[in-house]
Amino acid sequence: MSDALQILSDFDTVSHELAATRALLAGVPEEMRSLHEEYTVARAHLDALEAEAAGARSRRSEAEMAIADAQEKLKRYQSQVPQVRNQREYGALLSELDTVKATIKRLEEEALGAIEQVDTATAAHAAESLNFADLEARYQAGMAEWEARKPEVARRAAELEARRSELAAALSRGVVAQYERLAGRYRGVALATLSRADTPTAHSVWFCSSCNFQVRPQVAVEIRTHGVIIQCESCRRFLRTESAE
Ligand SMILES: [Zn+2]
Repeated sequence: MSDALQILSDFDTVSHELAATRALLAGVPEEMRSLHEEYTVARAHLDALEAEAAGARSRRSEAEMAIADAQEKLKRYQSQVPQVRNQREYGALLSELDTVKATIKRLEEEALGAIEQVDTATAAHAAESLNFADLEARYQAGMAEWEARKPEVARRAAELEARRSELAAALSRGVVAQYERLAGRYRGVALATLSRADTPTAHSVWFCSSCNFQVRPQVAVEIRTHGVIIQCESCRRFLRTESAE
């Protein structure tokens, strides 16, 4: 059974499994993917709420410092009231007093708004943290399980690499090089199945299942009976029999 075509077919199977195993090692397992996504989104949302509360807190303290400055100014103007000498000076001082009072009022509104924002963000953060604790526990458990499984997956990858090298050594260099080129060009699919067409005549008609190119009967015999490695004349993929899949 280990004719050249069988070896190539095994090489292909091992190559695919190796690629999938390497991809798994580089990421998270399929069953963890949606949990990973959910966790990442929830984490980012909590971080955003924290940043919002921190921003509001610093706006509040900025406003409060500005209020203290404005109150100093207000006191200074008020102390000047007894010293005014005429109506014009009095009018000007009143106008300064009005301006600084308006400033204080605006700053107080700003500080109040910031306090409310801190409260809202903090309450939302607290509420979401409750759900997040459960999500995080599930996520950490899943990740711990995956970390525990990783060495086994890595061992499997090493095994597959060794098996792939063995099979490559049993094939000709030209075939392996051509396989790599085809796999690169066709997203890993370097082999095509030799399929039989339903015809009303007694003669079988064979074609490449990937590109539908009709394969000459003699070529089909070489592949099916002798396990010879032959490429489709049209798409260049290696042709294999259905049973070899
Ligand atoms: Zn083809």
